[in-house]
Amino acid sequence: MSVLDIKDLHVSVEDKEILKGINLTIKTGETHALMGPNGNGKSTLLSTIMGHPKYTVTSGSITLDGEDVLAMSVDERARKGLFLGMQYPEAIPGVTNSDFLRAAINARREEPMKLFQFIRKLDSAIDELQMDENLAHRYLNEGFSGGEKKRNEILQMKLLNPKFALLDEIDSGLDVDALKIVSDAINNMKSDELGLVIVSHYDRLYELVKPTHVHVLVDGKIVVDGGYEIAERINKEGFEWVKELGVELK
Ligand code: ADP
Ligand code: MG
Ligand code: MG
Repeated sequence: MSVLDIKDLHVSVEDKEILKGINLTIKTGETHALMGPNGNGKSTLLSTIMGHPKYTVTSGSITLDGEDVLAMSVDERARKGLFLGMQYPEAIPGVTNSDFLRAAINARREEPMKLFQFIRKLDSAIDELQMDENLAHRYLNEGFSGGEKKRNEILQMKLLNPKFALLDEIDSGLDVDALKIVSDAINNMKSDELGLVIVSHYDRLYELVKPTHVHVLVDGKIVVDGGYEIAERINKEGFEWVKELGVELK
């Protein structure tokens, strides 16, 4: 079992404090939903874990099995098994999807993966996600539709086989069929060796992937921790009831 541990994390963007003391422990085998109204720091938290340079950690710690994640480069974090699936993945002109994936996989291995083995894995993932097979040979995210980009994030996750996958609104803009395909792929990947953190604005994804833990983030702090019942309550009542706990909604 691996543990990703976040303690009293404070993060600023351009001198404005966004995260104000986050405590969160995620173990492999668990699926965590990170909920909360817009603009309260969910993406900031996930991007900070992955090491996006825009975010400055002013205090607190992030460790992966006791190792200091904040001392690692983004590449090292990826090699240690952290993965961020993004809401708006960037296009990388001149790099094909398959080149990118192969380089990313091999960066995490001592011996490069054999080409035929890579192609077999890629083909089976493309199949499972019901993606266009030409996608592998197209430039990364260039001219991809919104839905293709999001499926592609899951394709990367399947091939990279991370220990912890942080998925930031990978379902926004997906139609019902694509959402089912993406959630099936996530469910098929669930194992004792994978910890998931999922941010979504839609109840449907949470219904399909059934988080084991739910956290509500308001104004840079986690104000509610619980199980799936929290997601169900938010689904029915929105975030207003959180106010009764004495929290000001932003
Ligand atoms: P969420 O993902 O919960 O919608 P974000 O983490 O994206 O929230 O944003 C949290 C806060 O940080 C918001 O107030 C947002 O305006 C601010 N923020 C995020 N990125 C930047 C940035 N690059 N510059 C200034 N403020 C930012
Ligand atoms: Mg947002
Ligand atoms: Mg966000």
